[in-house]
Amino acid sequence: IVQWTPFIQTYKKHKYPWVQLAGHQGNFRAGYKQGTILKKLCPAEEKALEAIMKDVLRPYVPLYMGVVDGNDSEKYLQLQDLLSDFELPCVMDIKMGVRTYLEDELAKAREKPKLRKDMFEKMVQIDPKAPTEAEHRAKAVTKPRYMVWRETISSTATLGFRIEGVRRGDGTSSKDFKTTRTREQVLTSLNSFLQGYSHAASRYVQQLKSIKLTLEGSPFFNSHELIGSSLLFVHNATSATVRMIDFAKTVPLPENVQITHRSPWSEGTHEDGYLLGLDNLIDLFSVIEKN
Ligand code: ATP
Ligand code: MG
Ligand code: MG
Repeated sequence: IVQWTPFIQTYKKHKYPWVQLAGHQGNFRAGYKQGTILKKLCPAEEKALEAIMKDVLRPYVPLYMGVVDGNDSEKYLQLQDLLSDFELPCVMDIKMGVRTYLEDELAKAREKPKLRKDMFEKMVQIDPKAPTEAEHRAKAVTKPRYMVWRETISSTATLGFRIEGVRRGDGTSSKDFKTTRTREQVLTSLNSFLQGYSHAASRYVQQLKSIKLTLEGSPFFNSHELIGSSLLFVHNATSATVRMIDFAKTVPLPENVQITHRSPWSEGTHEDGYLLGLDNLIDLFSVIEKN
């Protein structure tokens, strides 16, 4: 159980502990305007949000209100707080895609392929059979090897998304989904998130389908690779909304590269698996909706 509340948010005279399910705790603060938050500026995310505000995707992301000064010599992005319209909301962050690192990051890790004992140990802790014989003898693995392997222990590599964190209606939270991998395991976790809120599943299915249709016609989506981006699900007893967040690793595709967002990734293709993940999510929420 984690309690991750970096600050108390105020909205229309009511106060609530803000919930953060991923990222560094110091990256977020209360915003200057009502119902906004500040996220530490990252240039790639600023560019992406600026472009999305002019794209058909705009209704599916938090409203972006520009760059502001944090009075701490840091710049921040001012964003709509997606929790503002909810009291005691259930919140889930799902990280989309078949990988969560950029091809550049993999290439950089490969430049100096130092053997890493710490990564070998993390690997063995989760799956003693994961390292090869040679890696066992060296008691070490390289970082690129570890990066690629890590995506296979969750549902990322196979289903095109993974659960990052959940805050349930009873206030308990969990970020312990690193090895939630199979369709059945994911379904169990989604069911527990929706437990007691039977209206939410069909609302989510509807919205995920609209997001999918919009993505397919979006000039922004068709010209960008979305890595490490999330869908944020928020519901309570009466409403449910899902929005796209986190564009820190959303980058323009290289010239002359087109992706399907669905085909399997291999290095050089830039495929991100975003639509594969979305299809699987729609399928899983539909299963829950029908039960
Ligand atoms: P990471 O890259 O590790 O995922 P990050 O620093 O890029 O983290 P985000 O993923 O953008 O940060 O956000 C972290 C968490 O903060 C989300 O899981 C969610 O709980 C919360 N959050 C982010 N943006 C919003 C928003 N606009 N409204 C409400 N909650 C938000
Ligand atoms: Mg994130
Ligand atoms: Mg991020």
